[in-house]
Amino acid sequence: MRSMGHGEGFQLNLYIEKLLKDCQKGYIPNPDEATRLLQVDLDSWAFYALCATANYLTRKHFDNQAEVCAQIGLDYAPCSKSCGFCAFSKSSGVVKEAIYWDEKTLIQTAKSFAEAGANAIYLMSTANYPFSGFVSMAEAVRISIPRDIPMVANTGDLTLSQAHELKDAGFTAVYHALRLREGTDTRIPASKREETISNAKEVGLVVQVCVEPVGPEHTIEELVDLMFWGREHSVSFSGAMKRTAVPGTALAKHGEITFRELARIVAVTRLVMGDTVQAHCTHEPNLPALMAGANLIWAEAGPNPRDTEADTQYGRGQNVKHCRRILEEAGFKVRKGASIAALPSVLV
Ligand code: SF4
Repeated sequence: MRSMGHGEGFQLNLYIEKLLKDCQKGYIPNPDEATRLLQVDLDSWAFYALCATANYLTRKHFDNQAEVCAQIGLDYAPCSKSCGFCAFSKSSGVVKEAIYWDEKTLIQTAKSFAEAGANAIYLMSTANYPFSGFVSMAEAVRISIPRDIPMVANTGDLTLSQAHELKDAGFTAVYHALRLREGTDTRIPASKREETISNAKEVGLVVQVCVEPVGPEHTIEELVDLMFWGREHSVSFSGAMKRTAVPGTALAKHGEITFRELARIVAVTRLVMGDTVQAHCTHEPNLPALMAGANLIWAEAGPNPRDTEADTQYGRGQNVKHCRRILEEAGFKVRKGASIAALPSVLV
């Protein structure tokens, strides 16, 4: 995925200028226009005007508030879905032996995240984690953290009855994205991911997604398709995450995009989502994206698909304090209490 460069340089192309002014007033770019915006040169005025427009929309629509969500992985274990970007991919062989987080450590971590000001607690597992175990861990966390802090599940695909069980266990939302090249770079058909999303919605769980995991191998057309897919699926937030080139994984050979490139994608996704969302995310936490429309980032602990450390707190993962600091540095007020992007009651 390369910037095409259109000679924008230090002159704001009239087409881009008009398009961005329209977006400022609530216009949603169509796929051709989103494509053109993803082609702006990263050193041009057009790029900064794009970021400024997305930034303006975010600060206005979200009242200049931002959120820190805290995600805890439950298992560091080979996963049969073998996604090409994931440290847990069984076929990559990066993770050889399974390590499971125990309930006591999980509860302590969730409590300390909540005490540090996290706006939601995410529980994450590989697709092979036993579902009943996931539910009982969730129930234990639910009664240990303040009632007003929502829990979000980031786990494998769900049947309708499993979606019901998650809701009964105290989750209000699921993070369940259709990943780039789903079914090609993963062993999960896109239809399966969509079925899960539909099941989650049917039982009243909020669905969160983002354009991910973006690498240099992805085309602008693929990014645009996924942006509009998110808009069409009535999600509580979208955004963009770059793929981490975890050594030993199948896609690591492609390298990574930069945070500037990520900011461009975050900004265009923000314009595409319009005011249908309750937040706009970026991952991993980074300042360029927070100046280009993002207002939600994650702190992380435990096993993580982007890390070879069994506990990402000692690797790539950021803590809540750092996330709050970076949000403040970007000029946001950090929300107190629940993440509104995880609450069903605020969905439009
Ligand atoms: S991303 Fe999820 S489903 Fe894919 S290999 Fe990793 S843990 Fe399994």
